[in-house]
Amino acid sequence: MSTLISITNTSLLVGAPQPATLRAPEIEPGVGCDFDSYLLVPDTSLDERIAAARAKLGRDVVILGHHYQRDEVVKFADFRGDSLRLSYQAAEAEGRYIVFCGVHFMAESADILRREHQAVILPDLNAGCSMADMADIGQVEGCWSELASLGDLKVIPITYMNSTAAIKSFTGEHSGAVCTSSNAAAVMRWAYGRGEKVLFLPDEHLGRNTAFRMGIPLDQMIVWDPYEELGGNTPEQIHAARVILWKGYCSVHQRFTPRHIERARREHPGIRVIVHPECRFEVTQAADQIGSTEGIIKAITASPAGSKWAVGTEIHLVNRLSKELPDHLVMSLDSSVCVCTTMFRITPQHLLWALDNLVAGNVVNRISVDERTRHFARVALDRMLSLR
Ligand code: SF4
Repeated sequence: MSTLISITNTSLLVGAPQPATLRAPEIEPGVGCDFDSYLLVPDTSLDERIAAARAKLGRDVVILGHHYQRDEVVKFADFRGDSLRLSYQAAEAEGRYIVFCGVHFMAESADILRREHQAVILPDLNAGCSMADMADIGQVEGCWSELASLGDLKVIPITYMNSTAAIKSFTGEHSGAVCTSSNAAAVMRWAYGRGEKVLFLPDEHLGRNTAFRMGIPLDQMIVWDPYEELGGNTPEQIHAARVILWKGYCSVHQRFTPRHIERARREHPGIRVIVHPECRFEVTQAADQIGSTEGIIKAITASPAGSKWAVGTEIHLVNRLSKELPDHLVMSLDSSVCVCTTMFRITPQHLLWALDNLVAGNVVNRISVDERTRHFARVALDRMLSLR
């Protein structure tokens, strides 16, 4: 058993140099431990302790790491992927405990898709998603009522995977579906087979970029601002619109501008620009290629040695691709660093804390979606999957 030294010196917080004599707290079977004491775990012993806890748990645990996760955490992942792929891998895995190193909506999706005996854990509950938080269920229900007050508009709601379980459930209950950045066009086509308009949640940019590529002109799209009456539109504008775009965005992808693309091309002649569809319309128009997270990885890894890429997506993925493909030039479009700060909240200390607790028989930070929400969210996810 190690001894925990009580220290208030802030130089011992995460990332600061720490004396080698400090020992990590350990947990007695059946006894929990506060996360705060894990801030004292020296960086030098973290890897060893995580590996040891992981080994003790064996097949009982599966660790999932999103592509945007920091390297110190993602290196422990049994599976790395985007949110949808990880959720399905979790459900297919044997593990009783699914430790999801991603953000809150991803852990919720895993809980919706998990099997009966599994529990989903998010190592830090503060790891949220600014985009998902922009579509509050009360606001969306308010929007739906306002649309209904305008007569029979035949609106089909579609929500991006990056949304809360409550919003996925709302779409399931109102004859809509979930989409990902790679199948958004297919889901929109499905929706137009059932209704006249699409309410696209919560990412304005993915909705606009997808609809435009399907041939819907920009003047048939309106933005719904949840803080304005009728979303800031007139009844006539709503009647004329084919796409109603929820006013939400990703704070990481919205940072990229056409000037970043101009600069990359100026400084690296011949460079190919690939951007995520969560980027602004003008950025996707200026880029050479648009790709989902998995699409970006595939395009770059399939390109010949010597290829040059400027990438408009989260910096951890870009840096990892750059390291893994030393024969390529892979750089971020924005040199001032585009990091998903919420996902970055999950540290190796959080991962160790969650695993140590599992070893001691405590399930901490469990993400649990209530049965009703889970049911309709599953309906919306299954509708999407039936389109494959
Ligand atoms: S990158 Fe953007 S959409 Fe993805 S989790 Fe972070 S804030 Fe949310």
